[in-house]
Amino acid sequence: MKALQYRTIGAAPEVVTVPDPEPGPGQVLLKVTAAGVCHSDIAVMSWPAESFPYELPLTLGHEGVGTVAALGAGVTGLSEGDPVAVYGPWGCGTCAKCAQGKENYCLRADALGIRPPGLGSPGAIAEYLLVDDPRHLVPLDGLDPVAAVPLTDAGLTPYHAIKRSLPKLVPGSTAVVIGSGGLGHVAIQLLRALTPARVVALDISADKLRLAREVGAHEAVLSDANADDAVRALTGGLGAEAVFDFVGAEPTVRTAGAVAAMEADVTIVGIGGAALPVGFGTLPFEVSVTAPYWGSRGELIEVLGLARSGAVSVHTETYTLDEAPLAYERLHAGKIDGRAVILPNG
Ligand code: NAD
Ligand code: ZN
Ligand code: ZN
Repeated sequence: MKALQYRTIGAAPEVVTVPDPEPGPGQVLLKVTAAGVCHSDIAVMSWPAESFPYELPLTLGHEGVGTVAALGAGVTGLSEGDPVAVYGPWGCGTCAKCAQGKENYCLRADALGIRPPGLGSPGAIAEYLLVDDPRHLVPLDGLDPVAAVPLTDAGLTPYHAIKRSLPKLVPGSTAVVIGSGGLGHVAIQLLRALTPARVVALDISADKLRLAREVGAHEAVLSDANADDAVRALTGGLGAEAVFDFVGAEPTVRTAGAVAAMEADVTIVGIGGAALPVGFGTLPFEVSVTAPYWGSRGELIEVLGLARSGAVSVHTETYTLDEAPLAYERLHAGKIDGRAVILPNG
């Protein structure tokens, strides 16, 4: 089969032919319908050889949707042709976190060498994807595969982040979304669907600010040196009750802290490598800062349910598998509006 692989540190990913995977006992083979392109892959492909955590070559793609192509021995409850979405942050399935569906925080994944598809295990940007266990699959149940595939990360990750802050996002409150890209433009819609908060979006690109408004942001502010003052002014000087940073770089975490209100939640989702110091006098009183990773299985089911109700519509650009390297180039250059989705069998 054809697959998009990151093969050499620092080089662009390549479309190559690899052996067709076959499902072992307990595994499920999917024919991939759609696979999303996440900015985290750009970060992965920028890591130096000394600290690169995965084996190369690595088939990319941690957002996947497909149809069941074959079942390994002993798998029940699924039939060939079933359309399913893949829950990506695989865990052991039995530790205390996994028992709560929080496989993203599995206590034993590292020790057991369990890695998400595309982030250590062979990923979804390929004609076929091997899934370790049927519990990682959620039925699409009528959702369009292209529109649904980004929900497995670009939807699930902001959903998890926003859920933590729901008690603070009461009527009259403000939520700030920094970075209106793949995750951010879904976050805006989730905030609108789940809260009465006023949503203020920030980005460095006029196109992304346009997208932010289109998907429901009440205000769209250019993320420059004046952004902190502009957002403070929009909140009568008090700041926002929740700030979601989908960049995580030095200027954005600083802005996140600068626009937070007393007792606000600041969530750093972007993996830009910057930190926001917390200590008496550094931030308004009782601001809580966190950096979560992905979301739980239960939350993926909830996000897909929300999409079925029509509350979330992901903006997508589709590419063939041969065009996948171009999708990454365009993402790197900030040229993707919403999410790029690869159609490996399209
Ligand atoms: P993306 O490229 O689609 O979106 C990023 C957006 O941020 C773009 O619109 C870009 O214009 C904007 N931006 C860049 N610099 C900015 C600045 N200084 N101020 C305001 N906006 C700025 O990326 P994505 O796929 O949505 O991913 C967003 C981030 O989240 C990445 O860092 C990614 O690695 C990370 N991520 C984290 C998790 C997690 O579990 N923590 C999961 C998925 C993605
Ligand atoms: Zn991702
Ligand atoms: Zn576990």
